[in-house]
Amino acid sequence: MQKKLNYDVTIIGAGAAGLMAAIEAGKRGRKVLILEKNNHIGSKILISGGGRCNFTNINANPNCYISENPHFIKSVFSRYSSNDFIELVEKHNIEYYEKTLGQLFCKKSSREIVNMLQKECNEANVTIELSVNIQNIKKDNIFTVTTDSGIYTSESLVIACGGLSFPKKGATDFGYKIAKQFEIDLIKDRPALVPITVDERKNSSLLELSGLSFKAEAKTEGTKVTFKENVLITHRGFSGPAILQISSYWQKGKEIELRLEPELNWDEIINSHSRERIELKTLLSNYFSQRLADYLANEISSSKPMIQYSSKEIENIIQRLYAWKINPNGDEGYAKAEVTTGGVDTNELNQKTMESKKIKGLYFIGEIVDVTGWLGGYNFQWAWASGYIAGQNI
Ligand SMILES: Cc1cc2nc3c(=O)[nH]c(=O)nc-3n(C[C@H](O)[C@H](O)[C@H](O)COP(=O)(O)OP(=O)(O)OC[C@H]3O[C@@H](n4cnc5c(N)ncnc54)[C@H](O)[C@@H]3O)c2cc1C
Repeated sequence: MQKKLNYDVTIIGAGAAGLMAAIEAGKRGRKVLILEKNNHIGSKILISGGGRCNFTNINANPNCYISENPHFIKSVFSRYSSNDFIELVEKHNIEYYEKTLGQLFCKKSSREIVNMLQKECNEANVTIELSVNIQNIKKDNIFTVTTDSGIYTSESLVIACGGLSFPKKGATDFGYKIAKQFEIDLIKDRPALVPITVDERKNSSLLELSGLSFKAEAKTEGTKVTFKENVLITHRGFSGPAILQISSYWQKGKEIELRLEPELNWDEIINSHSRERIELKTLLSNYFSQRLADYLANEISSSKPMIQYSSKEIENIIQRLYAWKINPNGDEGYAKAEVTTGGVDTNELNQKTMESKKIKGLYFIGEIVDVTGWLGGYNFQWAWASGYIAGQNI
């Protein structure tokens, strides 16, 4: 005989957003249930930030997010900021540090963030059911969630089951299916913060450099945003922070342009050696590893002593160092993407509550919503903030 239980709130997904919403609702005295498919909570928190969870960014603001509706993000962040989450982390005496660019990481381990959320859930009397397989969700006056292990009814239902990236850590398309079931508009999803690939046959000598990294400023058509960070050559194309960041803006068929070592004045460097016998590859090896310098020199203009280049060729060398054009043929997909862009259209949601405008009592929070942050703690900040707001209203 299946158990039948009633709660005030059912939350689907014990990730960053779902846990935060549960804690806040529980603190308000609401009887809260979380249903989680995995046999543990916070699976992505555990693997995040290389095991040290980059839990927020002190510079988080709407400009660091991709969404059809930036005003929506502004409204959410005005109610819950990175300082609010830092306060919670400090309350639990979790040591953290700023790695770079406002990115806050745990000093010890991501596990501390998960333990903190579990403790807060316990204190707020939140019930968490693990290893749950949801069969269907129905709504009459209240929501009924039928699972293999029980039937749960509640007045509010929160969909916090994340995006499609990293299926091996539990990601499913369940939230998107529920949105469709309730006829809620979705913005087309796409992998983001993802390594890009290039045609392997045309780029065999480049791909032999797999493992080498360099600094660059990355840009692509359709956005003014640029990222000055490291680029890593992989055995299939490019990765590293600058590439992951720009991948979220990249559209199929468009180029990505890299300004190599962006602090350097290539005009001055190349022109000042243009009358010398030094070979281009030797000159470039002052700024890149020898293997990358050899590759670049041959790619740009088969390497020879600088004095043998015409002024037009010198100009071309300078231009190529300022704008190395990459033609990606794809990306590594959801298996390697950190996040998913697109999702539940923010126009479908009330920005003060995260509740669906169409279906009373139904809420969407976290990555399932069409709000995608840059790399660097921005995505967790969105999950905490949207979870917090729903938690005040469910
Ligand atoms: C490798 C990696 C590293 C990352 N590092 C960072 C970082 O350092 N900083 C940062 O800001 N962001 C990082 N991110 C992104 C961040 O993890 C997500 O943006 C964030 O976890 C989204 O929170 P969420 O609660 O919406 O979804 P999730 O945290 O993905 O939680 C969703 C939960 O729902 C559960 N679920 C799914 N389907 C069902 C179902 N049918 N029934 C029941 N439960 C279900 C899942 O098992 C999961 O527990 C990283 C992502 C990856 C993949």
